Amino acid sequence: MSERKRILIIGGVAAGASCAARVRRLDEDAEIIVFEKGPHVSFASCGLPYHVGDVIPDESELLLVTPERFQRRHAITVHVCHEVTAIDPTGRTVTVTDLTTGEERVEPYDALVLATGAQALRPPILGLDLPGVFTLRTVPDTRRVRAWMERTQARQAVVVGAGFVGLEVAENLRERGLDVTVIERLPQVMPPLDPEMAAHVAEHLEAHGAHLRLGDGLAEIAQGDGGLTVTTASGAVLPADLVVLGLGVRPRTALAAAAALDLGPTGGVAVSNSQQTSDPHIWAVGDVAESRCRVTGTPRLLPLAGPASRQGRRAADAICGRPVTSQGVQGTAVCQLFGLTAATTGRSASDLRRLGIPYAAAWLHPSDHVSYYPGARTIHLKLLYAPDTGRILGAQGVGEAGVERRVDVIAMAIQLGADVTALEQAELCYAPQVGAAKDPVNMAGMIAANQLRGDLPVARWEELTDAEVMLIDVREPDEFTTGHVPGALNLPLSQLRERLDELPVDRPIWLYCRSGKRSYDAVRALTQRGLDARSLPGGIESWRHLRC
Ligand code: FAD
Repeated sequence: MSERKRILIIGGVAAGASCAARVRRLDEDAEIIVFEKGPHVSFASCGLPYHVGDVIPDESELLLVTPERFQRRHAITVHVCHEVTAIDPTGRTVTVTDLTTGEERVEPYDALVLATGAQALRPPILGLDLPGVFTLRTVPDTRRVRAWMERTQARQAVVVGAGFVGLEVAENLRERGLDVTVIERLPQVMPPLDPEMAAHVAEHLEAHGAHLRLGDGLAEIAQGDGGLTVTTASGAVLPADLVVLGLGVRPRTALAAAAALDLGPTGGVAVSNSQQTSDPHIWAVGDVAESRCRVTGTPRLLPLAGPASRQGRRAADAICGRPVTSQGVQGTAVCQLFGLTAATTGRSASDLRRLGIPYAAAWLHPSDHVSYYPGARTIHLKLLYAPDTGRILGAQGVGEAGVERRVDVIAMAIQLGADVTALEQAELCYAPQVGAAKDPVNMAGMIAANQLRGDLPVARWEELTDAEVMLIDVREPDEFTTGHVPGALNLPLSQLRERLDELPVDRPIWLYCRSGKRSYDAVRALTQRGLDARSLPGGIESWRHLRC
């Protein structure tokens, strides 16, 4: 019989619980003990905003597994309300406090897994501790928000921070009938998206009655006579019955730092491909650990449930002596707000610019399924790729249907290191209700591949104001009259070949249409006649939201 290993896991949610279960599947003999300082193990943090909104009315639905079930099914011991307060890497022990009794004890380990997650950012701003100001990280947090709303008969709320969690909370408060204002220091919602993609989300939120104050951070929260008052950096004063903070998170590394484990440049615990820390007997998984970006090779924090769970599994494999490989993370994430889905994978243009990585972009606005079948909805899609090799660097999609499927396909292509021609050639599901023979993913690949091959010369919208060019709108006159780019002449594609003599031969011609398809056809027709013609990518749909 093999020697019985003693494996301690600190933190019992996504990463810790998945690690514990996987260790058991690989090693029937191991002694596995999870310490969780909260009252619940393996709860659904991602579901918390929907319990606030009463979409999930019953709190027990969020509690996925109980300690008793872990014991019965997997012979894993879970101690909830137990906080690990210190690690002694030399003696290979941890100090644990039972938060119910106050009793402290020392527990030895052969392998230790740090799955302590992340903690909410709380900048030094006046008023964050006032009653009625909440963060949403645990089931008890959610209980407190719901109880407060009921007790105060809350009617007005301010959400601070327009990231995924802040916006999910805003949606749920709005759905419960509250007047909701979201304040955000950055000039856009959803920072993982590029601004022009996030603008679609902002429009949708406002259409559903949420008030947005973008580019205006939180200055102070104070207690007024009839409730709270939130003062923004610009001096606006907003009354609120409750305030929910969604300012982001940082890795909870105090234990790791006190045990002198290496931290990475992002502030997360530095780990190897197998999640091993700088101590060979300690692994770190989930939000507490730093990851490596699969796209750029740079260190990255990615506080998401999927990577946390996979990292837990990987650490278990390593602890049990299995070979482990990891290609890092790429940031595939999705959020749905009032029926609008926003999804992203890989890096955004903003990220790539910041990291000094060259990129090219393709924008498109296809329907989620063929337009002749009822109910077709527009998907706004952006594809980012390396301008020399065509390697896919990222994608973002926003729309009311079919978005996550397209972004997931591109996510998989990124994982396989594919270039845009793989998207051009991809064989994907098609029936009229769900797609098109030329799927949006194929179209994204075709546009990018056309750009790469030089078949589709493109111009940049942001250079339009300075460029000495003839600007042509190739849509039909009835479309042109509903709104067009200032300075554009209307020369519809349907008349282009008869009116070639109106085009200049001594200066570039830049063309656009609604989404980029007709301007592509026009560019092909003109370049084959020797004219210097370029398409403005994504057409007027992109121009509406692009600001550079
Ligand atoms: P956590 O889930 O934070 O768990 C860490 C646990 O460790 C905590 O329970 C903590 O109490 C415990 N702990 C910490 N220190 C100690 C100690 N010293 N002793 C004992 N226990 C300790 N991700 C998605 O991918 N999709 C979503 O839709 C999504 N929605 C979210 C919505 C909300 C409201 C929140 C808060 C998060 C959401 N996330 C989402 C993020 C996702 O929940 C996290 O990335 C994931 O839970 C990370 O898992 P983890 O195990 O690393 O950390």
